[in-house]
Amino acid sequence: MTQRTFSIIKPDATKRNLTGKINAVIEGAGLRIIAQRRIHMTEGQAKRFYEVHKERPFYGELVATMTSAPVVVQVLEGENAVARYREVMGATNPDQAAEGTIRKLFALNVGENSVHGSDSLENAAIEIAQFFSEADIVG
Ligand code: ADP
Ligand code: MG
Repeated sequence: MTQRTFSIIKPDATKRNLTGKINAVIEGAGLRIIAQRRIHMTEGQAKRFYEVHKERPFYGELVATMTSAPVVVQVLEGENAVARYREVMGATNPDQAAEGTIRKLFALNVGENSVHGSDSLENAAIEIAQFFSEADIVG
């Protein structure tokens, strides 16, 4: 099934000028970048985006990290894109990420782990709608 998922190239990666290298891994895995924009997230945007984690001890640090430098927000399209991109990203903690995954290749630690990807088709639609209108997405 062709799906869309939402991706963020996080501040740790944009600061190290890794946008192109990460996009090459995404495209090499058969996912198509059908919308992309570089933004500096506001605190309000980051808090809303990660609201599911608001009771977790790392929430404040997560919001601070995500607003510390620009990010690249993206819509990816492909066969089973949601699960596929989770595979391509690798485990949340880069120490546990498989060889060849984005997090194994580029992440610094569990907090600064270079990329976000939606964890379900339902959340993908919600997350895409937070940052893109349909007119921005050219599939
Ligand atoms: P994922 O991004 O793999 O879906 P989660 O949804 O569990 O992971 O967590 C969201 C983000 O919160 C992670 O990508 C990471 O940046 C941060 N995070 C998760 N766990 C920790 C932790 N133990 N310490 C610091 N930051 C964390
Ligand atoms: Mg998650």
